[in-house]
Amino acid sequence: MKKYHLMAPGPTPVPPSVLQAMAQPILHHRTPEFEAIFAEVRKDLRTLFQTNSDVLLLAASGTGGMEAAVVNLCSPGERVLAIAAGKFGERWGGICRAFGLDVVAQKAPYGHAVTPEALEETLRAHPGVRSIFCTHSETSTGVLMDIKGFAEVAHRHEALLVVDAVSSLAAAELLMDTWGLDVVVTGSQKGLMLPPGLALVGLGPRGWERAKEARLPKYYWNLLEERKIQAKNQVLYTPAVSLVVGLREALRLLLAEGLTNVIRRHDRLARATRAGAEALGLELFAKATPSPAVTAICAPPGIDGEAIVAAYSQAHNITIAGGQGEMKGKIFRLAHLGYVGDFDILTGLAALEMILKGFGVPVDLGAALRAAEKVFADER
Ligand SMILES: *Cc1c(COP(=O)(O)O)cnc(C)c1O
Repeated sequence: MKKYHLMAPGPTPVPPSVLQAMAQPILHHRTPEFEAIFAEVRKDLRTLFQTNSDVLLLAASGTGGMEAAVVNLCSPGERVLAIAAGKFGERWGGICRAFGLDVVAQKAPYGHAVTPEALEETLRAHPGVRSIFCTHSETSTGVLMDIKGFAEVAHRHEALLVVDAVSSLAAAELLMDTWGLDVVVTGSQKGLMLPPGLALVGLGPRGWERAKEARLPKYYWNLLEERKIQAKNQVLYTPAVSLVVGLREALRLLLAEGLTNVIRRHDRLARATRAGAEALGLELFAKATPSPAVTAICAPPGIDGEAIVAAYSQAHNITIAGGQGEMKGKIFRLAHLGYVGDFDILTGLAALEMILKGFGVPVDLGAALRAAEKVFADER
């Protein structure tokens, strides 16, 4: 038997008390019991999103939440801008094009960030953009982008800012109201420490105003209708009942730790991971602000990144992530997202040392661990 460790940037490990909450007999959703849980969840979600607006729950993966945002904000043929510096940013462009929108693409090379200055220039060159779609933590490259800066630029150009916060919520600071983020989308299987299956979409006042005039077709994703009924702690269609029950427990855990501490923990784990990788002479893939959710590491010269991912799995029963698309084989990604602590990082780094040694890379065993422990010890 080899003890299993899940170290991928989604799905992420689920805490025992959340698993236990979800193992209770199924509640019917049209009951006072469920409505009481839903009310608590809705309230705590506002705290998590740092907003006074409604956060809606949908039965979908994160991408469903992204599509819901697009169809509720946009009208046929409308000009939008999609910021893409990785696979998830590209997904925004893909969704918008699927609905026939006039998509201006704002790109940066993988590993880099689009800056607010670059966004400003593109908006000047392409007037009439009504919505801007961006990614906070680009999970495919391990880069965090300046959504606060994007929001300032967007509003100067009278465009809405829609944020994919799937791998950043409950990992990086995100102040929806203070920063003026018009729409924030996340999914259950990342920082929220739940199984996959829930999408969460928060719309601010400008988002709701726009939703009233948006003419793209929708039925299941009708957020104005959802909002009316969710305000009564009910849901239009059968909700993912067990996930909602689990979400209540996950939110309790996060709020008991305190959002500031949750964010600090992720930052610390991320720094320890980076320090460990660098102590082994490895290059970090992120050339801009690194994500606190996932560290993308370049495979050493001559070694296939996919072989490293396979070795984690086969030799150590640890699931990590490889590179997506063109990054396949070039990088591997160690996540520190959600229900993760110091010793998970040390496990991941210890395995990395042994794997590299197995591939014939000269490794000073313990070097990554020393570097990571130093980060931990310096910040008790
Ligand atoms: C995981 C993730 C998504 C959503 O993916 P799903 O598989 O649809 O849940 C979207 N954006 C980012 C940045 C992600 O990390």
